Amino acid sequence: MNPSFDEFLQSSLQTIKEENLYRTLKTIHSPQGPEVALDGKTYINFSSNDYLGLANHPAVHQAYADGLASYGVGSGASRLICGNFEPQESLEKTLALFKQAESALVFSTGYATALGTLTALLTKVDTVIMDKLCHASLIDGVKLSGATLRIFPHNDLGHAEKLIIQSQTKGTGKILLIVESVYSMDGDLSPLADLVALKTKYNVWMMVDEAHGTGVFGPHGRGLAAELGLSGQIDIQMGTLGKALGTSGGFIVGSKSLREYLINKARSFIFSTAPSPALAHATMKALEICQSTEGDQLRARLFRSIEQLESGLKSNGDGRRHAASPIIPIILNDEGITLKAASALNESGFLVPAIRYPTVGRGKARLRVTLTAGHTPDMVHRLLVSLNQV
Ligand code: PMP
Repeated sequence: MNPSFDEFLQSSLQTIKEENLYRTLKTIHSPQGPEVALDGKTYINFSSNDYLGLANHPAVHQAYADGLASYGVGSGASRLICGNFEPQESLEKTLALFKQAESALVFSTGYATALGTLTALLTKVDTVIMDKLCHASLIDGVKLSGATLRIFPHNDLGHAEKLIIQSQTKGTGKILLIVESVYSMDGDLSPLADLVALKTKYNVWMMVDEAHGTGVFGPHGRGLAAELGLSGQIDIQMGTLGKALGTSGGFIVGSKSLREYLINKARSFIFSTAPSPALAHATMKALEICQSTEGDQLRARLFRSIEQLESGLKSNGDGRRHAASPIIPIILNDEGITLKAASALNESGFLVPAIRYPTVGRGKARLRVTLTAGHTPDMVHRLLVSLNQV
């Protein structure tokens, strides 16, 4: 029998609480930055993906205001109806140049980018071979497409190769290999050059999500694929605008035909109101800063903080691997212990999230520290002291 609607909600919430997986929203009363105000107190924020501090850069603010004055707030319709404004087109041209690709297409979020792209390209006769730590948006996109999803253990190339061979002998459909360049919850990098070699050897398609690589790695922040000189060999490069670029949205870069195909087939692009033109104007400024000398200085500052935290964690006795990116997980495994550690850090004035299932596997809970260019050596030092106490 159907349970009452409220009974269903209450008992589900109770289960979530018993498993230490309950989540609530925090309300921030200040701009995004290395320090944020909440509950009448200021916290040092080690939980933001605004890696270069562009979300509130004065020039990005000004560009937003200028975009607002010229094009207004709302786009009024989807891109294909009458929501396609000049700044969105310019942003896509700039993104394509930035990523040294033929073409780019912007979506309202990274999540919508993955969903729209994967459902446009795949059907149920196709197979996706994906790293175990890929983001939920990629998993959901494949599931929605109906394609067969085959997962290989994190960064295990041998296993990925086995899955490709099996899929080639079994199926008749297309095969798409999906990885990230920088993994969002472990902060480690993928062996991109070896993966591209695999893609080439077996002639399968490849998609790389550079959500956390864009703006941080590569010449002028072009991403890890650009750093390794691999951009031209990847069929579908994905990124987000809401992390190092400081605004919001997601994008695909690739061939002209890919853009044309997605405009015609990606449902999250076609059936959704276009992102604000003023925002596109602001994002262009963020991209300009990212590629400038100032951008290089911001990255240098960010990597100095990464080194400081990493060597501090080592001398605190944490035998972790070399920190590869601004995402530094401190894996405690147990959900309850991780929650307690996050709340103790909170009491000491830090925002460090407890990441739990379903964001990571059950029993793989962690504190996820993210560093930004805005953190000072003193802030990182104070975090290290508190982490040691916790
Ligand atoms: N891919 C990865 C690897 C991510 O970490 C995220 C955001 N958490 C996304 C895609 C989705 O991007 P957005 O937040 O713009 O929807």
